[in-house]
Amino acid sequence: MGKNVFEEYGLKKIINASGKMTALGASSVTEEVASALKVAAKEYVDIEELIEYAGKVIAYHTGSEDGCPTIGAASGIAIAVAAVIAGRNRSLIEKMPNSDGLKNEIVIQKGQTINFGGTIDQMIRMGGGKVIEVGSVNKVEREHIEQAITDKTAALIFVKSHHAVQKGMQTVENMVRVAQKHQIPLIVDGAAESDFRKYITMGADIVVYSGGKALEGPTSGFICGKKNLMEACREQYKGIGRAMKVGKESILGLIVALNQYQLKVPRAEEQLSRMESMCQKLNEIEGLSCVTKQDEAGRSIYRAQIKVKEKAGITAEQLLYRLKNGDPAIYLRDHYVNIGVLSVDPRPLLIGQEDIIAERIITVIKGDDSIA
Ligand SMILES: *Cc1c(COP(=O)(O)O)cnc(C)c1O
Repeated sequence: MGKNVFEEYGLKKIINASGKMTALGASSVTEEVASALKVAAKEYVDIEELIEYAGKVIAYHTGSEDGCPTIGAASGIAIAVAAVIAGRNRSLIEKMPNSDGLKNEIVIQKGQTINFGGTIDQMIRMGGGKVIEVGSVNKVEREHIEQAITDKTAALIFVKSHHAVQKGMQTVENMVRVAQKHQIPLIVDGAAESDFRKYITMGADIVVYSGGKALEGPTSGFICGKKNLMEACREQYKGIGRAMKVGKESILGLIVALNQYQLKVPRAEEQLSRMESMCQKLNEIEGLSCVTKQDEAGRSIYRAQIKVKEKAGITAEQLLYRLKNGDPAIYLRDHYVNIGVLSVDPRPLLIGQEDIIAERIITVIKGDDSIA
């Protein structure tokens, strides 16, 4: 393999086995998406028309009434919040995030106020929302939500994420019921989800996705939902959205990625068998045990979970550190490093990189590597 473009600039070569991580460049796009980015960068277009057209493409692929392209799911949250507060009123749009005197409260379950690299709380506030956390981190009842609703409530938000507490929260179905009963919009943050129709079908008013995660598109995102709300979202580009401008390249790349998405063959089975054969190699090493495990949020992602036991003579933290500081730098998924478990996410791996990972781990455990 030749040098990649970042190596040409003296930056380190990365093997990404940790997932769709913003910190590692999120996704690697297809040739078609890459060429859309290149072509779009060279030509002119009426941006408002392009954004409206993207809205139609988003609607088509999500089964929603309309859509709005964004530069990421994080900006999607801020824009959606500003939209439910300011609507299409130009003066209010320009006043955001100052929402004094307006219906501005956004109700969120305590176990869902996550940090995905930035905090959801801050994204809501950037959109002019006042965050109303309800319940406890591990327990939220329906009453907590209902009793938090006042004449100041602008929306409810539900966060579907492996980062969130999975047990004890109100389900998205219940959130839909409460939102409909009180006639307030429900925003769903489904940034990393791969089913772009699910929450719209369930009755959510606004759903926010990342374009760089399951979609494997460029740095981008999209919002889908009710027509009037999507029009309001697009209008925010004359307000806070201007500081999160999505360029013509990203929009066209997003459109091409969405159009390709349905055609993509599911690769879960192939990925599972690659992880199984990597586990076989690692299970021959004393001190390691490796099994394949389905994603915590129930998506069809099968990761290898490597348990580093005392007999390995090294802790999971030390192994993680050594891999990260090797050449190439290997990034494993480290959510469970505190209990001695490291995971390998097959989605971002090129064919064969799982062998490089297994070899490096074995070398480190055997103490044959020279890196301190
Ligand atoms: C990744 C993520 C985001 C942010 O998405 P970007 O596209 O990187 O802006 C927001 N919410 C959740 C739950 C996420 O996982």
